[in-house]
Amino acid sequence: MTQRKVRVRFAPSPTGPLHIGGVRTALYNYLFAKQNNGDFILRIEDTDSQRFVPGAEEYIIEALNWLGLPFDEGVGIGGSYGPYRQSERKNIYKKYVAQLLGDDLAYYAFDTPEELDAKRKEIANFQYDASTRLQMRNSLTLSREETDALIARGEKYVVRIKIEPGEDIHVNDLIRGDVVINSSVLDDKVLYKSADELPTYHMANIVDDHLMEVAHVIRGEEWLPSAPLHVLLYRYLGWTDTMPQFAHLPLLLKPEGNGKLSKRDGDRLGFPVFPLEWKDPKTGEISSGYRESGYLPEAVVNFLALLGWNPGNDQELMNMDELVRLFDLSRCSKSGAKFDYEKGKWFNHEYIQQKENNEIAALFMPYLQEQGVTATPEYVEKVIGLVKERVNFIKEIWDQASFFFLAPESYDEKTVKKRWKEDSAAQLGELIQVLQACEPFESHHTEEVVKGWIEEKQYHLGNIMNATRLALVGAPKGPHIFDITETLGKEETISRLQRAIDVLK
Ligand code: GLU
Repeated sequence: MTQRKVRVRFAPSPTGPLHIGGVRTALYNYLFAKQNNGDFILRIEDTDSQRFVPGAEEYIIEALNWLGLPFDEGVGIGGSYGPYRQSERKNIYKKYVAQLLGDDLAYYAFDTPEELDAKRKEIANFQYDASTRLQMRNSLTLSREETDALIARGEKYVVRIKIEPGEDIHVNDLIRGDVVINSSVLDDKVLYKSADELPTYHMANIVDDHLMEVAHVIRGEEWLPSAPLHVLLYRYLGWTDTMPQFAHLPLLLKPEGNGKLSKRDGDRLGFPVFPLEWKDPKTGEISSGYRESGYLPEAVVNFLALLGWNPGNDQELMNMDELVRLFDLSRCSKSGAKFDYEKGKWFNHEYIQQKENNEIAALFMPYLQEQGVTATPEYVEKVIGLVKERVNFIKEIWDQASFFFLAPESYDEKTVKKRWKEDSAAQLGELIQVLQACEPFESHHTEEVVKGWIEEKQYHLGNIMNATRLALVGAPKGPHIFDITETLGKEETISRLQRAIDVLK
């Protein structure tokens, strides 16, 4: 068989905001496509109108764009295999449903919800399958005429796949190897509903993967139980030769490792489980997002890439290009990946360090505006260079650096008690004279001059530095003191020293 072009799809259902696990699925699909010069498709699986949530599709697209995972074909941008929204493909599916019915591989079923309920009560662990279907109201138990009459009368029906029991079905999974499930445990799943003239997920998913020439299906572990049915559907439709290769990714687990990561874990432990903030259109409830929480998309991507995969060594920091180069489906783990939120923060910290100060400044500007502060870009960049190693998030820059923009209005009381000595006012008064004459006002030089003066006068270095910091910052924090003086500049430094003297003496 000739090598097929790598075409993968991310196929979310627009039932709400994309969960972080879904983001990881999209990422792995993207990495795999890019490393094989393949196509990455975005298909929206919206055949379940009951679960459709307005805004979800837009949210998914915005999230992929924010993360830097652009798709080559799909909703909104089109492509030669469209439409890419399943609700717009109704007529395409009908033909294949008819084919299965014609081949006696599927059948009409007319059982009402009440009838199904009654059966469930009558038979413990009822399953619609070879052992029960002949007790039900379907085209296998009704005559051809009766069936036709019901349909002609507009009776609601579904089409079910006819699964023969007792066969081992093999799912060849790139991560899990040969997964074998006996067909006896499968039920005759609904493939189509006349009520909305739409196929169910299983049918639409298979037909679309086939028509869109998807060569690899990379998706979450929760879809593994559906895979044997999908293998059968490929066979029933005569497409076994072009059946995609499956890869079912490991689950994302709670930080404690017991069970699937849920939104509640995020609420409980204070981290987002969605890429972007989401406002529930019905309840108005807001769920926090990585973007709004101050994460850089590069950090989120790197963090997620390692939840279920590793490059075979202990390298952790990998940008998108490296991920594309190093990613390997066969190195994905079978067992679930614990969601280590602290690690996510660490990645964000690292990516902030890698960014140029001007890039960080651009991201920090909105926070400055929020504080009503104006400053030149050069000044902001300089400040950022001094504090960035202390932050995990852009917004924390303000906590670390607010004094660069606003002179202290008050002085931390505890520190004043401890650090403002009897002779501090007099000494800082002298220091002002020293600084006045200090030129250039650059960090190293100022440090030399000031320390020379302190030595000459035999003053206590620590006491003077502490008092100076209190005067400039208002609290016992901040970067190297002479980096602060250089950044503030001579005039501002002296005015702050003077003010402290006036207030505290
Ligand atoms: N629509 C399914 C989902 O929401 C797609 C599963 C698959 O990739 O086959 O995840």
